[in-house]
Amino acid sequence: MKKDSLSKAALAVAFLGLAVWGGLPLYRHRHRGVPVVKGPGVTAVLRLSEFSPGLKGTAGDTFVFVLQGKAPGGKALLMGNTHANEPEGMLAALIFIENAVVEKGTLYVIPFFNNSASRNTRPGDGYPLYFDIATDWGACRFRYGNRDASPLDQWPDPDVYIHYPERQLLSYIDVRNTNRTWPGRPDGPLMERVTFGAMELMRRESVDLAIDIHGAETMFPVTNCIVAPEKSVKIATLASLTVKAMEGFENHVEPSPAGFRGLSHREIGDHGPSLPFLLEAPIPFLDQPTGPKTTKLLLDGKDPFLLSLSRKKKLFVPYDEDGWPLEKRVGQNLSVALEIFRQFSKKSAGRPIAVRGVPRYADAVKDGVGRFLADPAKAAPGGVIMN
Ligand SMILES: [Zn+2]
Repeated sequence: MKKDSLSKAALAVAFLGLAVWGGLPLYRHRHRGVPVVKGPGVTAVLRLSEFSPGLKGTAGDTFVFVLQGKAPGGKALLMGNTHANEPEGMLAALIFIENAVVEKGTLYVIPFFNNSASRNTRPGDGYPLYFDIATDWGACRFRYGNRDASPLDQWPDPDVYIHYPERQLLSYIDVRNTNRTWPGRPDGPLMERVTFGAMELMRRESVDLAIDIHGAETMFPVTNCIVAPEKSVKIATLASLTVKAMEGFENHVEPSPAGFRGLSHREIGDHGPSLPFLLEAPIPFLDQPTGPKTTKLLLDGKDPFLLSLSRKKKLFVPYDEDGWPLEKRVGQNLSVALEIFRQFSKKSAGRPIAVRGVPRYADAVKDGVGRFLADPAKAAPGGVIMN
């Protein structure tokens, strides 16, 4: 009898030990902060809960960096990490926050739009928890997140997600996907409160342009493109043609389907004053048939299986031994966003948006992404926000 209780106790201790051993890295990942340095153009830092009070005190709340220009003009909202496993959006947003000087107009930048998803992971797919970007001042470490918010923050999932307000039936998992929960509502599930906050910001501040930055598989047809609804398509087309002519990279325009609800490029334009754009850069890491999901693949985008599929013409982007490195992906996003501002300003004389100090495609490809990330150790007192 005594021997039996002893072995039960030993098993319980072993089980607890394994749970702590397995859980601690996830706990650390969820609570680790990423430094965001307030650059020369940042004039205020807000919380999204100021526009959506139902976010207050939750992991859905997130920072909104305001860069108000010296002269009045138009307004633009930039969002990264709608999907926190597509870091080229978050990095482009950080580069704007840390480098941009706004001459005319105002920028609102949300680098961790789905803050909860940036603290989530996908262990079944072998996702790394972190990735490092080399900079002049050492390695800068970022959390690698997931497509959807953490179930620790929003749970349980429904059997089917019924989109609000259109009542279209979506996959259950999309209730935690901030690119399906637009336009949101103030008292809906947490991710609807996130998108509602951004809608309120756009409505209250009369934001002209909303740019939601993503990455997409090379085997997915909607990749390497600007997704735009009817009202944004002219500016998107001009931006696409200009970057191709002036900067030598392809970024075609895809129409936003009217019948597919909940997406930023559809709902933002239907429920508020802003012209929406969704940027997709190819991210080989997200493709299914690749080798191990390593940080190397995440950063350089080189994979032998994709290379052989490319020779069989199965990919929707050109792909060779050079892969599709992060610098190219982030650089495209920077140039396309700047070009959307420029094209909008040309057409709307009273609401110009003029930004300087932000690198373009060629700068990011030549110098790397890390060159444009600020050193938090050299920031002014109070100049670093931990996200
Ligand atoms: Zn995405």
